[in-house]
Amino acid sequence: MTHHILIVDDDLSIRDAMHEFVELSGYEASVASSAEEALEVLSGNVVEIVITDILLPGMDGLALTDRIKRNHDIDVIVMTGYSTEYSYEEAISKGASDFVFKPVRFEELLLRLKRVLNERRLNHERIQMLEKLRKLSITDGLTQLFNSRHFYNQLKGEIERFNRYGYKLSLLLLDIDNFKDFNDTYGHLEGDKILVHLGRVIKSCLRKMDTAYRYGGEEFTIILPGTHVEEARTVAERLRSAVAAEDFSCGKVSDLEITISIGVTQYRQDEEISSFVQRADQAMYQSKQAGRNQVSCFFDPPAG
Ligand code: GH3
Ligand code: MG
Ligand code: MG
Repeated sequence: MTHHILIVDDDLSIRDAMHEFVELSGYEASVASSAEEALEVLSGNVVEIVITDILLPGMDGLALTDRIKRNHDIDVIVMTGYSTEYSYEEAISKGASDFVFKPVRFEELLLRLKRVLNERRLNHERIQMLEKLRKLSITDGLTQLFNSRHFYNQLKGEIERFNRYGYKLSLLLLDIDNFKDFNDTYGHLEGDKILVHLGRVIKSCLRKMDTAYRYGGEEFTIILPGTHVEEARTVAERLRSAVAAEDFSCGKVSDLEITISIGVTQYRQDEEISSFVQRADQAMYQSKQAGRNQVSCFFDPPAG
């Protein structure tokens, strides 16, 4: 991958010499004769490094560095003469990644360029790795839905939003019917495949704002922000019938009927998170008692 470098200097001969050197070193280069022109180049190009003189007509190189660091993911190397009063500290405090004195020794510039590019790559890899770890830490390994730790964090956040803005908040808790029998008949591995498949069906039934979690072994929760309990019941009913209609056959197992029982409830002002979840669980239990493959709703709106 070629790296794109932008050179900013008001001196044409320096600009041209650096342009030639940077391209000969194997990079793609653009030039600008002022900070204003540089910002224009940046708005239309993917540039990774800007090498800028500090003394420029109009906006100076330090102000340019400041602007770039505020608005772009770009590294800046600044150049200055020995005689000017700009210091290394000033440049670094504006966010510059490195500093070279003029007249620029090209070999030195190349070394610095390579070092900045290398640090840039390592930094991007570190950010990607952290993002991967963050995703892993909130994801259930089997179903790829969110895990129960993330469930409690998200639910806390939604409850705070409810208390601040008064948005309605509903919760579904669902459990696979007679799943122990399934495991006993077909084995745990086939059971795991059902969990993965069910995870996909759940995802396909969610609306944009809804989030689904594997709450326990074969139990799942769905948070429905901004949703009244009656609307939540409709979502639950849609999910229940989608699961009942889904063909879960795989390999040697065919004509499989998988059903789920769902409990639905809505958050009550100032209640504990545990009593909110418990009420959804009780509603789910009610669905089990009433014969499974159904949706039950527990919510008494406060008087008044
Ligand atoms: P009910 O309709 O009352 O929910 O009956 P059930 O058999 O589904 O409920 P029960 O709570 O008695 O058993 C849940 C079963 O779910 C026990 C276990 O075999 C199965 N199970 C839980 N976690 C997993 C898992 O990660 N993989 C597999 N394959 N099975 C699991
Ligand atoms: Mg269970
Ligand atoms: Mg069950």
